[in-house]
Amino acid sequence: MAVNWVFVGASTIAGQYLVGAVRAQQDNDVRWVISGSAGRAAAFAATHGIARCGTDLAEALADPAVGAVYISSTNEKHHGQAMAAIAAAKHVLCEKPLATAVADAQDMVRAAETAGVVFATNHHLRSAGSLRAIRDLIAAGRVGKILSLRVFHAVELPVHLRGWRLDNPAAGGGVIADLTVHNADTVRFLLGEDPVSVVAHMDATGMGRGVEDSAMSVWAMPSGTMVFSHESFTHPFAASGVEVHGTEGSILARNVLSQDPVGEIDLITAQGTARIEFDRCAIYQSVVRNFCAAVTGTQKPAASGRDGVKSLQIATAVRDAARTGRRQAVMYGETA
Ligand code: NDP
Repeated sequence: MAVNWVFVGASTIAGQYLVGAVRAQQDNDVRWVISGSAGRAAAFAATHGIARCGTDLAEALADPAVGAVYISSTNEKHHGQAMAAIAAAKHVLCEKPLATAVADAQDMVRAAETAGVVFATNHHLRSAGSLRAIRDLIAAGRVGKILSLRVFHAVELPVHLRGWRLDNPAAGGGVIADLTVHNADTVRFLLGEDPVSVVAHMDATGMGRGVEDSAMSVWAMPSGTMVFSHESFTHPFAASGVEVHGTEGSILARNVLSQDPVGEIDLITAQGTARIEFDRCAIYQSVVRNFCAAVTGTQKPAASGRDGVKSLQIATAVRDAARTGRRQAVMYGETA
């Protein structure tokens, strides 16, 4: 099915991954790029060979040839831009976190459901072959009953991304908005359950100015599984990873929380250590392929709007726990 896209946000991720991911789908193209700056929009359009560009989202949304909108502006803009796209009856793939406030994210999901358009969250890690392989090992009972899961997302923020994430809380900066939401979605995807409460600590350890650049939290799951989530922007030599520990075995995965299909997975049981192979297809291409299938009604989005709301609810609970020093129940309300 041919889909013409509006890209809202002349962003790094759009240029590095999503333009190519859209064009990798048959008959899909990026028709517009919309930015807050005419110059940035024009430069992005020239670099990526996009025919139309500007600063007026309404003009792009009025284009009857447009079917879908990808939003990768800074986080505080997602809500208004998504609501405009939904009101124009366009399908929306929105970057995480969906918004800077849970109520705004819920608003977006409700509006999309009422309008009958697809609304997906770009929690791309669900589409990574590595995490799918880990989930399959868990589902097949290869590690027995899960006792604990640890997610390490402590990395060094690349130099070219050291802007609003480090100094602009109003734009949704901070490592919790950036990476805890990914960890939340990863844990929900792997375990198939949602945390009920969290305790947490956060700090600025060298990069954050007015926002946290590091956080650690421990989550209680309904099954009794204990989850540890670690995020940072300041760790130059730490590889990302996921560890799942069960009564019959452990899964040790290194470097898998990535934008690229990289990393290694080992399964350790009484029989020894086995290297687990996994699908190394381009991750964002898989996200967009799945989104297009959702538009045609043949599949659900890999990560729905409701998944995006839940990851934000969990990250919000982590931030509240760190701020107050008290355990926080995760409030799902109507999203549950
Ligand atoms: P960028 O900082 O690259 O871009 C965000 C916005 O900043 C752009 O939309 C642009 O605004 C503005 N901007 C870009 N370059 C400049 C510049 N040179 N001077 C001034 N302003 C500039 O952000 P990211 O690409 O890292 O992130 C964008 C969104 O995508 C965020 O919501 C983030 O959380 C998400 N993200 C998701 C990932 C995933 O794997 N799912 C990975 C990385 C990011 P304008 O549009 O007005 O031109």
